[in-house]
Amino acid sequence: MAQSSITIKKPFDSHVHLRRGAVLRAVTPVTAEKFWGAIVMPNTDPIVATIEQAVENKKEILAALPADTTFKPLMTLYLTKDLTASVIEKIAVDKEKLIYGVKYYPWGYSINSQWGPRDASDASPVLHAMEETGLPLLLHSEVHLNAENHEEDPYDGEKLFLKDTLPRLMDKYPRLKISLEHMSSKLGADFMEKNGKEGKLVATITPHHLVYDRTDAFRTGYRALLNCKPLIKRTEDKNAIRELVKKGLPFISAGTDSAPHPESRKFSSCCVYGAFNAPVALELYTQVFDELGCLDKLEGFLSVNGPRFFGLKPAEETITLVKEDWQVTEPVVTEEGIKIWSVCDKTHGLGNEVIHWKIA
Ligand SMILES: [Zn+2]
Repeated sequence: MAQSSITIKKPFDSHVHLRRGAVLRAVTPVTAEKFWGAIVMPNTDPIVATIEQAVENKKEILAALPADTTFKPLMTLYLTKDLTASVIEKIAVDKEKLIYGVKYYPWGYSINSQWGPRDASDASPVLHAMEETGLPLLLHSEVHLNAENHEEDPYDGEKLFLKDTLPRLMDKYPRLKISLEHMSSKLGADFMEKNGKEGKLVATITPHHLVYDRTDAFRTGYRALLNCKPLIKRTEDKNAIRELVKKGLPFISAGTDSAPHPESRKFSSCCVYGAFNAPVALELYTQVFDELGCLDKLEGFLSVNGPRFFGLKPAEETITLVKEDWQVTEPVVTEEGIKIWSVCDKTHGLGNEVIHWKIA
């Protein structure tokens, strides 16, 4: 008989964007309800590039939580040209453990990515200090501009990074702990299956790259809610990352990459990148694992592998999901009345999308 409910240790989100201000206050409780902790991305506006800025952003997140929540925001720093080895050493001896990683964004690429070094490998003193102290480097593993400053084909960004940038980085810093964020292609899945290593080289996978392919992303025109980086790719790419999660490898974990934007920036002639999925991420992951017949692998992916990479124990608290159809019919709304639409939304999604798993 098909399984109709599952109880797992409360999940951990290895990659989330909580933003700042009113958007942060609106979306943080949504993530906190479903995940016990999350690695919080630093590409806010302004970016989180110093320990002081991380303290400030964390304070803002904690203040947005409902009183009864024990959610843990685990902060990261943006890899800028100003980041120094002494900051990394300071992070390593911090008893409060504020910072859990440093995030690299490709040159000229995603939102607020203009501050990093041209090539991740160029940040030598910082990366050597990270090797010494064991602080992970979180990579937006795509190439955007080539050496001549010409834009590469956006569907090839991940391929170029894995074939060129990453091998150079791994050669130069052999002990660096690396997480490849939002793995989105067949090449990436093959690469991880061959090279992934627990505690050393891991990857996160989003729900939207498991559920959609680019036919969906362009179905009957342009689908703003699915406009994200890395771009949603071919069916064969989607299927390859589905096969990867099915294997239950200890170095593959959930990173939602939930990336909220106000309605006015999402539904505009120049739609910003980012798929907001916090209201449905956990449910979509469960649905995919059910479709793949590997619900036994769900807890490792959602709740165990991510925390372990960051030196944390999984939650003792559990969460139960049941197989029951539902739809997203309402946006998340900020205190100023600004709407933030989630993927799978009935009105703005692909059209009448039904989610098959629900939190009990
Ligand atoms: Zn992201």
